[in-house]
Amino acid sequence: MNEIINRLRKVRKGAMFIIEAPSGTGKGTVIKELLKNDSNIKFSVSVTTRPPREGEVDGVDYYFVTDEQYNEFLEQDAFYEFVDSQYGSRYGTLRSEVDSFINVGQDVMFDMDWAGARQMKEKAGADVVTIYLLPPSIKELRSRLEKRGTDSKEVIEKRMGIILEKVSHWNEFDYVIVNVDLQETVTKIQKIISGERMKRVRQVGLKKFVRELVKEVNQKASA
Ligand code: 5GP
Repeated sequence: MNEIINRLRKVRKGAMFIIEAPSGTGKGTVIKELLKNDSNIKFSVSVTTRPPREGEVDGVDYYFVTDEQYNEFLEQDAFYEFVDSQYGSRYGTLRSEVDSFINVGQDVMFDMDWAGARQMKEKAGADVVTIYLLPPSIKELRSRLEKRGTDSKEVIEKRMGIILEKVSHWNEFDYVIVNVDLQETVTKIQKIISGERMKRVRQVGLKKFVRELVKEVNQKASA
């Protein structure tokens, strides 16, 4: 029986899970928890022109590049999607972070904004699952941003200014979760992931499996 389950798993099509939230909603922590507990999800490392924050590692959190390098990626058509101006920086998802994984049944997780999510939906349709995290309150969100201590006052004000605009896109997402409790949110997303993996369109190995079932019945009938 285990052999059958393994065979089916190998021929599953990977899904692309996009998680978006206004800054300070805890998106980064939620994504880290999800990745820690599920080895079948790979994180798509984005390219950005913004400087690394303290503790961020090149090639792990982002590929930190110069404007010239970013332009080269654009010229080579290396991006699956990109946004050219976010808080004064540019962000993009490399094709190489996506296709080869999805096709061998590996799920990929993305930390990207609504504009990127929209582009991904247009390009990859049914492979894309989008999840939006809402903060429990704006007051809470500002206090989380301040406690994080990674951005200057000026950047925090800028981020707060963009929040209203960002939140207005909540209804473009497949799933919406109010992030009150980190562990609860993680559990909810794990349930979404399990459900999405079971969808018929992702279980591309099922066709062959059912064909074999039918063959077995026919063989028994003619024996
Ligand atoms: P931060 O600078 O705080 O890491 O990210 C700022 C915003 O850019 C966040 O909303 C994040 O989700 C988004 N972002 C990060 N990488 C990408 C990407 O590759 N594409 C798009 N469209 N947005 C991204």
